[in-house]
Amino acid sequence: MKKYSRYLRLISQILFLALFFYIFFNSIIDNSGFSLELKLKSKIEYIFAIDPLVALTTFFSTYKLPAVFILSAVVIMLTVIFGRLFCGWICPFGTIHHFFSFIAHKIRKDKYEKTEYPKYQNLKYYIFTAVVILSIMRINVSGYLDPLSILVKCLAVFFLPVVLIIYNMNILSGSMQDFLFYNVLGRDNIYYEQAPLFGTIFIILLALNFYRNRFWCKYLCPLGGMLGLLSKYSPLKLQHKANCNSCGSCSDKCYADALPFKKNNFKSSECMLLFNCLAACPSDSLYYGLNIKPAEIDLSKRATAKTLGIALSGFFVIKTGKKAVAKTPQLIRPPGSVQENKFLKTCIRCGACMKVCPENFLAPSLFESGIEGLWTPVGNADYGYCVYNCNLCGKMCPTGAIEELSVEEKKKTVIATAFIDENRCLPYAYGVDCIVCEEHCPTSPKAIYFDRVKGKNYKGRSREIKQPKINPEECIGCGICQYKCPVKDKPAIYMTSIKNGGVILS
Ligand code: SF4
Ligand code: SF4
Repeated sequence: MKKYSRYLRLISQILFLALFFYIFFNSIIDNSGFSLELKLKSKIEYIFAIDPLVALTTFFSTYKLPAVFILSAVVIMLTVIFGRLFCGWICPFGTIHHFFSFIAHKIRKDKYEKTEYPKYQNLKYYIFTAVVILSIMRINVSGYLDPLSILVKCLAVFFLPVVLIIYNMNILSGSMQDFLFYNVLGRDNIYYEQAPLFGTIFIILLALNFYRNRFWCKYLCPLGGMLGLLSKYSPLKLQHKANCNSCGSCSDKCYADALPFKKNNFKSSECMLLFNCLAACPSDSLYYGLNIKPAEIDLSKRATAKTLGIALSGFFVIKTGKKAVAKTPQLIRPPGSVQENKFLKTCIRCGACMKVCPENFLAPSLFESGIEGLWTPVGNADYGYCVYNCNLCGKMCPTGAIEELSVEEKKKTVIATAFIDENRCLPYAYGVDCIVCEEHCPTSPKAIYFDRVKGKNYKGRSREIKQPKINPEECIGCGICQYKCPVKDKPAIYMTSIKNGGVILS
């Protein structure tokens, strides 16, 4: 069994990673069958169902727990009984780090046997503590640090645009091109200004494995910190037989730096149950079994106090940042978004809504809603528009930050208002005909109508000119007029975040 435990772990890692990719890539529009309503093949929320960190912080910051998170109780139970099984056997981000660590371990000819526990490995516990303190103060920062959230976001905002570039090169066989389009991309318009930033973050996190195996998991991951704390009283852990002579062979193979060769100081809360050590032990002295002695987690009081101080400072920095930023015209939330303050507490910045948005309307924000709103979804009609009969972002959102609307509700949901820049609009500026915005406006009755005025065109000829006007009672702010406007560099019609023309009708 000992020999096979590593292979069982490997099989589990591969299966859960495959399941993750299956759900992620299938979270696209289902084109099978005929239906006027857009449907999803799968939902990214299933990925977050097993994430106890997101469940905990969402509960603290919103006082609600979406039903999907009930499954995370299973992960908690598994951890309390078996230890950090999730980290070693289930977590897809952990598996990707494991793969890179495996390559790094092969390349790095040097052995790095750990003989002492590096105190900075405790950093993840402090990060977890800070995340929880902030969520109790109703600031949900787990989306920036939760491993599944980082993974989904980096794949959606960085990896998919990279795949699209490869797809557009047309260098693959026809069947591969079809596979990429229908099973990976799902659409041919994936563009995010922040893709390079997410790419850099992702590559740095993976590259850190070449410095230390599973760097992210050991030092930074707040979910790893949470599960480490939960595993403190786990009754099952690695045990030593009497014939162990602490030769250290196991320690070299331990990606978790749990110091398995130390009979009396084995760090079971660091152990991810990878079981490399069992195979590495030349005298077969290790086994996984019952031991009710609690794990030692040496958190210093001073560092814990510092964490509290950092979390409190973070709270004030984030809040002052928010107060300093007035609501900006670009703060256009997806249809069905809950009220802004609640949205900031509920959204976990996972990028699921951006991934599924069929016309590339949604993108990660910068500081449109202050520091607290970083990477939350905003609509940008320069790069896409909100499809009239689409309600997919609400269906996809795992936390309810975007509520699920019926298609009929969605069609009436106002997210912004269009304004015309008369200096750039062709009928106003040059006295020529242009009806592009009116043609594309999807509402019924249309939110764009024409005023017929007598005037001169740019050649000085008198004529009747049709000048477009906005009806703020009908405009829902979908952005298609801005996106399709022929004045491409800076469209002559644009969305701003006020609704129904703002003060006029609200
Ligand atoms: S430490 Fe974090 S990223 Fe690593 S395996 Fe555990 S939960 Fe996943
Ligand atoms: S923003 Fe509009 S088009 Fe995009 S997913 Fe949401 S409802 Fe659909």
